[in-house]
Amino acid sequence: MATTEFRTCPLCEATCGLELTIEDGKVTKIRGDADDVLSAGFICPKGANLGALHEDPDRLRTPMLRNADGVLEPCSWDEAFELIDERFKRIDAEHGRQAFSAYLGNPVAHSLSGLIYGRPMLKAIGTRNVFSASSVDQAPKQVACGLMYGTSLSITIPDIDRTDYLLILGADPLVSNGSLMTAPNFRGRMKKIGERGGKVVVVDPRRSRTAEAADEHLFIHPGSDALFCFAIVNTLFAEGLVTPGDHLDGLLSGIEQVEAAAVPFTPEAVADRCGIDAETIRRIAREVAAAPSAAVYGRIGTTTQPFGTLTSWLIDLISILTGNLDRPGGVMFPKPPAGTPNTQGEPGSGRGLKIHRWASRAKERGEVLGELPVNCLADEILTPGEGQIRSLITIGGNPVLSTPNGDRLARALDTLELMISIDIYLNETSRHADVILPAPSALEHSHFDLVFTVFSVRNYANFSPTVFPLPPEMLDEWEVLLRLSAIAGGAGPHADIGPVDDFFALELAGRETRSSSSPVHGRDPAELVAEVGDRSGPERLLDIMLRCGPYGDGFGSNPDGLSLAKLEANPHGIDLGPLEPRIPESLRTPSGLVELAAEPLLADVERLRAELDSAPSNGDGLLLIGRRQLRSNNSWMHNIPKLVSGPEGCTVLVNPLDGERFGVADGQRAVLSSARGSIELTAVHSDAMMPGVVSVPHGWGHDGEETEINVASAHAGANVNLLGDTELVDEITGTAVLNGIPVEIAAAG
Ligand code: SF4
Repeated sequence: MATTEFRTCPLCEATCGLELTIEDGKVTKIRGDADDVLSAGFICPKGANLGALHEDPDRLRTPMLRNADGVLEPCSWDEAFELIDERFKRIDAEHGRQAFSAYLGNPVAHSLSGLIYGRPMLKAIGTRNVFSASSVDQAPKQVACGLMYGTSLSITIPDIDRTDYLLILGADPLVSNGSLMTAPNFRGRMKKIGERGGKVVVVDPRRSRTAEAADEHLFIHPGSDALFCFAIVNTLFAEGLVTPGDHLDGLLSGIEQVEAAAVPFTPEAVADRCGIDAETIRRIAREVAAAPSAAVYGRIGTTTQPFGTLTSWLIDLISILTGNLDRPGGVMFPKPPAGTPNTQGEPGSGRGLKIHRWASRAKERGEVLGELPVNCLADEILTPGEGQIRSLITIGGNPVLSTPNGDRLARALDTLELMISIDIYLNETSRHADVILPAPSALEHSHFDLVFTVFSVRNYANFSPTVFPLPPEMLDEWEVLLRLSAIAGGAGPHADIGPVDDFFALELAGRETRSSSSPVHGRDPAELVAEVGDRSGPERLLDIMLRCGPYGDGFGSNPDGLSLAKLEANPHGIDLGPLEPRIPESLRTPSGLVELAAEPLLADVERLRAELDSAPSNGDGLLLIGRRQLRSNNSWMHNIPKLVSGPEGCTVLVNPLDGERFGVADGQRAVLSSARGSIELTAVHSDAMMPGVVSVPHGWGHDGEETEINVASAHAGANVNLLGDTELVDEITGTAVLNGIPVEIAAAG
């Protein structure tokens, strides 16, 4: 008999509601949940294939251990944890805790277990060598916003459902459905901007699908977004258009420094570098200022470039200076149901975001967000000396494909004394591990979006219970992370994790009862934990977070408020309303103000100004940019036949003029080379590309040996990150430059 289950899709940031039809223990149909409070029936091809991911015969279902012959073979959980314990102890005794490291992949952000239990595990290990996908992605935005508003999760989100003017840089939300902007059915939402008389402008070196659907598209030279944005800021000051608004009176600091910093960046000074004429830049500045409401949004094209943090800062400055911060239709702070640092404590009580508290040993790159940039991971492993990394644990990450110079990283991984991968596949990265610990499929554990409710264009809460029970031979991800925490804490490979989990619950409840702003202030933590009942693992902790959160039932003080039980009774989610003004309540800077001119940002302006004096980075040559694809997300989903057999694929898009210039015909195999490496792939001529710019999607290149991803291997594509250079970084965050890399193209053979 068929049953119906409702489940939030965990495959990207859009968090669409899915309606699953289950027959005989299998998913037979998936469609969008028409009643989902956020996505209202929207779905993309990835979500429709969540069942195929669950059924994938290549998905790992038992731990794997490297045997004496160097071959990975299935083993029991006990064998896996015993080996980890033995090597952990040895490395710890010989080299100490800084010999350990971790890499957190993007899937961690989509995993309740990973988010709740990952950090305590890292704390138990006690290393500063933590890396993640943030440093090949959004870290610059988090740092820029953190310096201005006080926490790394204080990200301003475009209120696209009410805005009259949306300026988009380096993003393709029609394909991504938003990133750092959870916005399922972006196309529908964008269409409504036009229907209410608004305008959408896209600035991008490629006429993306979003640009095609926008009212206006401007080509821009890769890597020059900071100059473009600074020229807008310059125009706003020069033309008397700076009007932050009465609602921010007395709440901004540093506006004079911003005005002074903007002086050199006139539209005329930047026009050639941007490829956009001065009058157009001025017109855009005037349009943003004149719109009844406006939001400026930049994404990965603006963060993975040499001035990623400055660009992110300037994007917010435009919104602030034109009166569009923290008001409907502008950019706003969501209020997530499980709380974040900017909903906890009192405004003005924040320490602000601190960066560069320590540095990587070999490359001396500064810490941000408690992590080191991943593009120095290989050096930290390969450089001998005190503090050399000898052990790595990867959680849901594939850095061999997703970080620059992955070949070198792959060689470095083979020198480790202990590598552990928590993953669903034997892929290009996990194949280097000594132990692989399989993670359950997305349908074998419950789900709640702790992260993406922080970035959503509307406040909401949605919980998905487990669809299929965890097979008896599997451990849940939180149990694996607790077992590893126990090993790191010296409790051995067979520790009873129940008391550790109880301790975590008491700790969380205790933090709440000690906080003067919590609804449970002064109560007994043990009483709260008892009230949660029989739940364990992440669901118990989630319940405590929800009940103490801004909409929570406060364990009795607000009986109609949220709890996990209430979410379970509402399978389509609960709508918590449109975004609302939250300043000054959300600010956690030391001053309690929006700090427009934080020192690390101003200090980097001179580096940008020097760009005005230098020649364009690649003259008549080509610059490489990436592109997001609808049917994949990073290196995910390439082992699903229906997704890789579609029209997308790993090709290089070339403007026809460049094709002719370099003798590369449409459909011909081409070699793309940089100073670091070369790849071969099919060229596709497209006038959507700005002349002088080529585009390759990332996450491909599944041609490594010893992997078990057979569909992906048959559709391998090429690893664009082999062209990347670990020396090219955004100076403030160390984030890799993935857009604007100088390349050459030639016909293959
Ligand atoms: S847009 Fe994202 S969340 Fe929605 S169905 Fe597709 S992959 Fe899932």
